[in-house]
Order: sequence, then structure tokens, then C-alpha cells
Amino acid sequence: MTKEFNYDVVIVGLGPAGASLAYFLRKSGLKVAGIEMNGAEGVWGKPCGDAIGKHHFDETGLPYPSGDALKQKIEGIDIISPYGGVKLRVNGEGFMIDRNKYGLFLINESAKAGIDVYLKTRVLSPKLESGKLVGVRAKNEAGDDLLFRGKIIVDATGNSGLLRRQLPQSWPANEPLDPKDSNIAYREIRELNYDIDEPTYLRIYVNQEVSPGGYWWYFPEGRSSANIGLGVQGGMGYPAPNVIFKQRLETFDEVRNYAKVINAAGSKVPTRRQANTLVWDNFIGIGDNGYNVNPVHGGGMGYAFVAAFHASRTIINAFSANDFSAKALWDLNINYIKSIGKRQASLDIFRIFLQRLSNDDIEYGLKHGIMNADQVYETSVSGELKANLGLLDKVSVALRMLGRPSLLPKLATVATYMKRVQQLYDAYPTSPEGLDVWVSSVKALYSEYKAKIGAD
Ligand SMILES: Cc1cc2nc3c(=O)[nH]c(=O)nc-3n(C[C@H](O)[C@H](O)[C@H](O)COP(=O)(O)OP(=O)(O)OC[C@H]3O[C@@H](n4cnc5c(N)ncnc54)[C@H](O)[C@@H]3O)c2cc1C
Repeated sequence: MTKEFNYDVVIVGLGPAGASLAYFLRKSGLKVAGIEMNGAEGVWGKPCGDAIGKHHFDETGLPYPSGDALKQKIEGIDIISPYGGVKLRVNGEGFMIDRNKYGLFLINESAKAGIDVYLKTRVLSPKLESGKLVGVRAKNEAGDDLLFRGKIIVDATGNSGLLRRQLPQSWPANEPLDPKDSNIAYREIRELNYDIDEPTYLRIYVNQEVSPGGYWWYFPEGRSSANIGLGVQGGMGYPAPNVIFKQRLETFDEVRNYAKVINAAGSKVPTRRQANTLVWDNFIGIGDNGYNVNPVHGGGMGYAFVAAFHASRTIINAFSANDFSAKALWDLNINYIKSIGKRQASLDIFRIFLQRLSNDDIEYGLKHGIMNADQVYETSVSGELKANLGLLDKVSVALRMLGRPSLLPKLATVATYMKRVQQLYDAYPTSPEGLDVWVSSVKALYSEYKAKIGAD
């Protein structure tokens, strides 16, 4: 017999998106269920680089990680060019976190405040009645069939998109991920047998031969261990990242000089602009599920927090108005776009360009200041290539002299389309009725852009 539960809000998945949403809603007075398939020891267990910028906590009001949830305070990132000739230092505070400990902290605080947390409970499918989303079916550890009913169902199951992909195909929220808009990533946490020089600086190595369409990273966790991994663009037939790790990364001294592997695992991360809509009738999808990830560096925890923060406001407003339609939930799209989504769309355009650059082009571009440290930071935060365009005149002569004139018009094209996509996001429809027409414009813009820069 199926056991039934009734809630205002049902959150499926208690990773960064779901757990932070539960935390933001903990004092809302709403009846909220948070359902997670892992037990306490597996919470936030998805493999990750574990690095996060401090600003995400400031922007959303989440407490900074501390105690055993904090592995290392970070002062900045070094970006290292393919042949090692250039090291760009980008300063900015951040943290290496113990995901499990920080996730458990958010979940425990939410539970203390009255959120009902169901661990070791796997959600199987959405429950629809007369075409309306009314809940989810689940199974607990004991094998009981469960039905959680809710007025708003939140899919925070990460890139598996468990509920989103089982919604009716006619719902715009059911929007599959093109594999080329993802990175397949793998990382090992290694105890090293040497002392790390500067443990407060993360290292990102850009090298298309080692990690095509991505990068490899070395993130210290104190003086003697590091989270080391790489991502490669999906859908391109590149070798699996765990294979590349063994074949290529192991050739670097800082990787191969280790005492033991503490954890090794891989997963997928979406690297595209946000989903066309994060909401539909009675439905919200956030975090990796809503493609709320920075397309250039693939960091997703902070943006999952931002999406959850806006979702909590939207949910509270929907209950005040007693309206759970797509129209009533629509301001989540608008607020996410305003705070970061528009910039992420612009970075998506930039990402497609970056993935097609050769090592020679990257080395050259970094060496000749087409991208200096400040601009790298500015571009990755603002989604604007303006500053670089300003430099075009200065570098154009040098570029031509070195027989690399093809890069110039490409950069100009990229900057133009970064601007144009931002303009499209400024014109995001104010209600669901305008979505189809808007999506057609976005598709047309992307086709035009990809044809211009020779991407498929
Ligand atoms: C190798 C790698 C390195 C990365 N490095 C970084 C980094 O350094 N910094 C950064 O910010 N981001 C990084 N990312 C991205 C980041 O990990 C994700 O963006 C982030 O975890 C997304 O959070 P989420 O809550 O949306 O999804 P997830 O973290 O995937 O959480 C989803 C949750 O839903 C649960 N769930 C799934 N299905 C069900 C079900 N059927 N029933 C119940 N529960 C379910 C899962 O158990 C999980 O707890 C990395 C990703 C990878 C793969």
C-alpha cells in the first residue's frame, strides 16, 4: 500500500540547490519536505572540485563554511597557459569546502527549524493527475511505496534531471541537454608526499591536448593534499577523463608524487546558459537541473545557491497569492536572469569560442595580453568582452605581424554575439505566453553565431 504525505513544497534532491532552498525556506512557515536518496554520509557526495567563491555566500546570506566544513581558505586562482609560458594570477577570496559537512550543516539547520527531511529515499517519477503535477512517487530504504503530494515540486536532482525529463514533452521545462553543452569531469583527492608551495592559490591549467574543451585543475586542500581533476567537452568523442588522468596528468610531478588516493570519482556538469525556463505549472527546476552553472569555468555550487535563493522568494510569493501556475512562478526566471543568467548566456557564447581555440592561439592570446588577469576575471564575472575589444587596436598589428590575423575578426564576432545574446535576455518574456517566440530567437542567434565561427 502506498503511504501518502501532504506538503506545500516538495524538494527532490538535497545537494547544493535543494539543501540551500530548504535552508532559505526554513522560517517561511510553509510545510516543506526535502527528499534525498543518499544517507547522511553520502549527502553532497557528487564528485566536485569543492572550490567556491566567497561572494556567493555574501550574495545569498548563507553562512561561510567553518570548522570541519572548511578545508582551505583561498586567496585566488592561477591560470596557467598550455605551454606554461604564462601564469595569470586572479585574486579573489574563496573556500575549499568539505561538501558533505557543509551540506549536512544546511540540512540539519533546516530540519531543526521544521523542514521534514527524508534521507535514503529515492524519488522515482513525477505524479500527474489530469495533466497537473501534484507530487512525486518515491521508495524508501525499507522498500515502501511513497507518494509525496505538494503544491510546488522542486527538481534539484542535479544533472540527472530526474523529474524535468519525465514531464510531458509539450512542457517547455522539459528541455534536454545537448551533450556538447556539458563537460565530463573526473577528479581524485590525493594525499601528496610533498608540501604544496602556496596552498591558498588554486591552479587551473588550460591545455586543449590534455583536457579538450575544458581544463585540468589542481586545488590544494591544505599543505599536503589536493583535489586534482579535469573536464572534457561532452559529445565530441574525446577519451574519458579518467583515462586522460592516468595517461596524461600522471606525467606531471605535482600529480604523480602522492602517498594515497582519498577519493576518486567522475560526473557530468552542464556548461550552457540556463534552461529556457526554470519553472512551469507547479514545477521548479534549479541547480544543475536548471543548467545554472558558469559555462566557462563549470562552477555550479554558487549558482545553485543563487537560483535557490530566488526560488525561495518566488515560492513564498506564490503561497501569498495562492497561485502555483507557471505565470505565478515566472519571476524566478526574470530574477535569475537579472542577477546572473544574462551574464551566463553571454559566457556561453564565449565558451563555444574558447572550446575551439588551439593551444597555440591560447598561449599566444595569454602571452600578448589579449586576456590579462583583470580581464579574465572581468569577463568571467560580467560576461562582457568589452575590455578586450578595447585592446584590439593595440594588438592587431602584432597579431598581423605574426600571421595570426584570423583571430581578430573572430574575437570581434564573439564580442558582438555576447552583446546580442545579452540583449535577447533583456527581452526575456514577462510571462509564459511569449516563451516560444523568444526561444526561436535564441535558437536563430546561436545557429547564426555557430555558423560564423565554424562551430557545429
Ligand atoms: C568533477 C566535477 C568538479 C566540479 N568542480 C566544481 C567546483 O570546484 N566548484 C563548483 O562550484 N562546482 C563544481 N562542479 C559543479 C558542481 O558540482 C555542481 O554544479 C553542483 O553540485 C550542483 O548542485 P545541485 O544541487 O544542482 O546538484 P547535485 O550536487 O548533483 O545534487 C543533486 C542531489 O539530488 C540527489 N538525487 C538525485 N536523484 C535523486 C532521486 N531520484 N531521489 C532523491 N534524490 C536524488 C543526489 O543524491 C544529490 O544529493 C563540479 C562538477 C564536477 C562533475
